[in-house]
Parts: sequence; C-alpha cells; structure tokens
Amino acid sequence: MEDIQEILSLIPSPSEEDKALVKKAYAFAKEAHKDQVRKSGEPYFTHLFATAKNLAELEMGAVTVSAGFLHDSIEDVGVTGETLEKEFGKEIRFLVEGVTKLGQLKYRGTERYNESLRKLFVAMSQDIRVLVIKLADRLHNMRTLHFVPQEKQLRIAKETLEIYAPLAYRLGIRKLHRELEDLSFAYVYPEDYEKMLKLLKNKRSEEEEMLEKFNKSLKKEFAKNNITDFAVDYRVKGLYSLYKKLKRKDMDVDKVYDLLAMRVIVPTIGDCYRILGIIHSGWRPLPGRIKDYIAFPKPNGYQSIHTTVLNGFGGVIEVQIKTKEMQRESEYGITSHISYKQQDGKKKITNPSLLWVKKILPVRDNFDASANKTSKKINFDDVPRWVKELVEYQKDAGASDSVIDEIKSDFFEERIFVFTPKGDVIDLPKDSTAIDFAYNIHSDVGNHISGAKINGKFVAITTTLQNGDLVEAETRPNSKPSRKWLEVVKTTIAKKHIRSSLEERRGK
Ligand code: MN
Repeated sequence: MEDIQEILSLIPSPSEEDKALVKKAYAFAKEAHKDQVRKSGEPYFTHLFATAKNLAELEMGAVTVSAGFLHDSIEDVGVTGETLEKEFGKEIRFLVEGVTKLGQLKYRGTERYNESLRKLFVAMSQDIRVLVIKLADRLHNMRTLHFVPQEKQLRIAKETLEIYAPLAYRLGIRKLHRELEDLSFAYVYPEDYEKMLKLLKNKRSEEEEMLEKFNKSLKKEFAKNNITDFAVDYRVKGLYSLYKKLKRKDMDVDKVYDLLAMRVIVPTIGDCYRILGIIHSGWRPLPGRIKDYIAFPKPNGYQSIHTTVLNGFGGVIEVQIKTKEMQRESEYGITSHISYKQQDGKKKITNPSLLWVKKILPVRDNFDASANKTSKKINFDDVPRWVKELVEYQKDAGASDSVIDEIKSDFFEERIFVFTPKGDVIDLPKDSTAIDFAYNIHSDVGNHISGAKINGKFVAITTTLQNGDLVEAETRPNSKPSRKWLEVVKTTIAKKHIRSSLEERRGK
C-alpha cells in the first residue's frame, strides 16, 4: 500500500504546512483517479505515488512533490486549472499545467527533430521544476514499460533515450540520467544491452579483488599522511554509458579506464588537491588523464578531480576526488539547488555556473504565474550556452541590441513552437497564423504564400497555429499580401513586410 509517511519522511525538515499540502495532494489524486487503472492492472494512483516519491527522493520539496501527485489530473481526469488553483494555489496550478503542455509535444524520431525537441522542452517548461516532474514521471513509466504493448515500447524507450535522458544529463541529475538511459537501452538495443551486462559482470568479478587491494593501500597511504576524514567507495559505469564509450574505442574494453572508478570523498576543496598529491606520489599517473573539473567544471556543473594511475597490481584505475557537496551535486544536479530546504537561504550556491537557475526560479512567496515576473530578472551572462542557444536562432545577422533585449524579455512569455517539414523549430508568439510562420521562414515565402498545410491537412492561411504543429507553406509567384492579413498576423516581422508590400504596390 502506498503510505504517505514514506514520502513525508523523504522531505527534508517539512513544516506542518508542507505536510498538510502533500497529504491533501495525495488524497485529492487518489480520489480523482479512482476509476482509472494502469496497463499493469494496478490502480492509476500507483503511478502518481511513484512520481511523487521520485521527486521526494530528489529532495524537491512539498510544492513540487504535491504537483507530482497531481501531474496527470488535468489530462487524464479533466480536473480544471481553476480547481487546482482553488485547492492548491497558483504555483501548483502553474506546474501541473506546464507538465500537461509538455505532453502535447510529439516525438517524431529523427535527429533533427530531436535536437529541436530537447530545446523546446526546456523553453516550454519555463520553470525547471516542470521539467523535473516530467523526468520523474518518465522514470516510473520506464520502470513499468514491460506492461505496455510491445509496439509502443520501442517508441517510448527511444524517446526516453533521445530526449529525456539527455535532458537529465544537461540538468546534471545523474541519478535520473543513468537510470533512464539504462532502462531504455534494454529496449532500444536489446542485444548490445545483454553484451554490456555480461561484459561488466566478468570485468567486475575480475577486478573486485584488485579494487579491494588498492583500497587498502590507499587507506594506508592516507593514514601515513594523517588524513582521517575521508570516505572511499567505487562506482560502476552505467551500461549505456559504457556502450557509447566502447563504440568510440573500437569496442575494446581494455581501452575503457573508468569502468570501475574509485571515489574519494573529503570535506574541503583543499583536501581534494592534497589527496591528489598523495595519490600521485604513491602511484604513477597516466599522462593526459588528469582532469581538474574543480577548477574547470563541466558545462552541466559537474565538479571533481579525475586521475588514472597504475594500481601497482598490473592494471590501471581511475580515481575521482571530490567533496561531499560535489558528490551530492553530481547526483542531484540542478535539483540540489532548488530543493525547498535551500530556499530559505541557509545554504549558499557555490557553483557559479548554476547561478542562473536561482534566477529563473520563482520565489515561493511572491510567485505570480501569469506574469512570469521572475524571468525579467535574468542576467543573461549567467545563462549557460545551451540555454542561450534556445534564442540564438532568432537573431538575424545584424540584430540590434534592442532586438536582443526584446528576445530576452520575450523568452519566458507565452510562445508556441512549430516545426518546419525539415524538423526545424520556429518560435512564434501565441495565436500566430500560418502567414506569420511563412514570414518567419523568409519574406518571399510570406509575400507569396497561397496555401498552408498543418500536420498534413490543407487549412486556410489565416489558421491559428498550435504548439507542436508541423507546418508547410505553399507559394505561388502571383500570390500577394492582402490588407486583411494585417488584422490576423501576430509577429512584427510579418506586419512589416505586409505593409511595405502594400505600399510598394500602391506606389506603382
Ligand atoms: Mn504521468
């Protein structure tokens, strides 16, 4: 039976108010979905409980955990946004509506679409928490994928591997990334999955003894240097991650040095470098294998020192040195900065590359979903490159500062995203038409548009586009803009071109 206490115990020091909120969401979801069953035959509520639990395990806090319970209530059982707001407040309504919106995006399966789709997921989420809920939801769906009809399994697993797992990686949530990858790997490449499983098993039993010996001599060396405050363990590489690496190394497992890696956890950054010194004076490091991700964090925020040394028993071993905080961050990524506990300012963010996250996140007290006020406070310099790329494609060659400013402020406002037949994403204001789409492709396409297809069906060119539509514009050389278009188009670029075309014709 799904016990609410199990989830409450995972939330770090919850207030009475937090507990009441989570309990209410639990009861509401149970009642709302009571007539629904999963493919497994279990009550649908098991999925909602599992999603909420995944979020609690990421220490996401009471609001996000509650939204986890409610995430399917709009789409599956017709609960309205108004009801959610009345019962649970604006913030939870916003989160659940965000998750529902993401559900409308269709996976099309080609590489070009995939990159666009990943960007779109981020842009549409508006709030990182929406994305994390979606990932927690997908994790449970992947864990129960064997209940789903076979013809659907492959599509869902592929989508997970190509969209969700990379997103988890970019958010730095290894905990989710690794499991999402390995679960889908088994469905997408079943034979390779078996191979990796076997390979890892053999290698592990081969190396376990060596690892133990190395571990002992490490500890001896630390003791000699009066280092007593440390923890040592080892981690095994994920199966899909191993598979990807092997493909780059001619499938030669002896070229993969980090199949099993020792992990040394110490209190401070200073300790990390001291440990590195001790290891390098005791064991010969392999040249070119020393990576200082503390001084130079990975783009997703990952920090640690990696080095590969000759282990003294005829082999090599990778050692990863990090602080407890870095270890936590490498598992939880972005979520380690947005957990409820940290919102009271007790803990300071130490990793500047993630500072932007704080700025995108709404503050609990003065949150206003409709206005998205918080988005205005973003300092664009703190935004990582992959997020900047979301808006890069909108910039024309000679875009002025004011245009860029406009993009910045527009970034989190209501936008829709549609696809070209080639799979590129066109980002438009809400209620844009096929005419706007055409002008965003090229002014000539806009000026000569004669017809449009949405998702393969012919429609009027004045038709309003929806998120995720696949749009085609047809042109004819003698088609011309009409004055009426000015009343329906939404984009400045379309208005500008329509006006100048009308004036040009009048001048003749
Ligand atoms: Mn769901």
